[in-house]
Amino acid sequence: MGIRFDSVTVAYDGNVVLDSLDLTVEPGEVMALLGPSGSGKTTALRAVAGFVRPVSGRVLLGGRDVTDLPPYRRGIGMVVQSYALFPHMRVDENVAFGLRARRTSKAQTRQRVAESLELTGMAAYARRHPRELSGGQQQRVAIARALAIRPDVLLLDEPLSALDARLRSGMLAELARLHRELPDMSMLYVTHDQVEALTLADRIAVMDRARLQACGTPQELYRAPGDAFTASFVGGANLLPVTVGSGGVEFAGRALKADTGDAAAGARATLCVRPHLVGLGDGPNRLAGVVREIQWRGATHRLYVEVDGHSVTADVRELRDPPRHGDAVSLHFAPDDAVLLPAGVSHG
Ligand code: ADP
Repeated sequence: MGIRFDSVTVAYDGNVVLDSLDLTVEPGEVMALLGPSGSGKTTALRAVAGFVRPVSGRVLLGGRDVTDLPPYRRGIGMVVQSYALFPHMRVDENVAFGLRARRTSKAQTRQRVAESLELTGMAAYARRHPRELSGGQQQRVAIARALAIRPDVLLLDEPLSALDARLRSGMLAELARLHRELPDMSMLYVTHDQVEALTLADRIAVMDRARLQACGTPQELYRAPGDAFTASFVGGANLLPVTVGSGGVEFAGRALKADTGDAAAGARATLCVRPHLVGLGDGPNRLAGVVREIQWRGATHRLYVEVDGHSVTADVRELRDPPRHGDAVSLHFAPDDAVLLPAGVSHG
């Protein structure tokens, strides 16, 4: 079932924290709401769940206006960061909770609980209490509980934030598998972690200061971010302040070749170049500078190079003889690998 935000505005005490959100999640789609803390992501999720009421705009589920429906009548499953399991109840009782509240028959409850625990790999833990489980297992139970009512829409609010890095990547794979097994269920996934968004989402909605900044597939947002904030939030980016010239731009007094589209000559702009597309050594669009830091990252070396007072980041592969701190080096990038964006300081 699809989700639609139709110009949804939410305010607390007159402060607008979600500003005229227009966004559609297609049936079966995984949409990530990605943005820094305080950008309004959770508020958007809670508006879908029915826990906050918009001051204006409508929320639609499967084409039906649910703005005035209470949460329990929206057919939604929700998973939050803190698991929120009932400590005095066993795992199976926790998972059955939503079904009991809906007065589901005993036989059907038993079947749905078993199914949900099976789906999340927790069948063997049905009779334990939450305190007897690890954080990752507790989160699986929370997911099982959300799935037990067979929701059309699953809302996830930073579900992996409380887990350590290793568990997190395992759970990400689990969520992807879950989505393959339940392909009709739409998922709205709130996160501030771009890796989670890039890994899991069909599309990403980038939020910034109560507003939707950009929306697209991970690949679209990565290749053509559209604005500096999105560029820095989805994948790393060098954002060089430039002035548009003819056939290229001027950066710190040097001419660089780049596609300037229909940008007016003389206009200020930002040139976005991804760190892995910056090479070490001579080449087109050469930037001479001094190595300020070098980090070995296994498959790549990350170089921070100061170019006329600007820091340029390069992720270089297979560097046999890496430069050292303080060395003078040349960087370069292909004109086709640079994207011209509107001027504007990133504040991510
Ligand atoms: P995010 O999920 O992106 O971190 P939130 O949607 O939780 O952001 O919050 C957006 C803004 O709304 C924040 O400035 C937050 O302080 C504020 N806010 C959230 N909930 C409440 C509330 N119940 N009362 C007042 N302000 C709130």
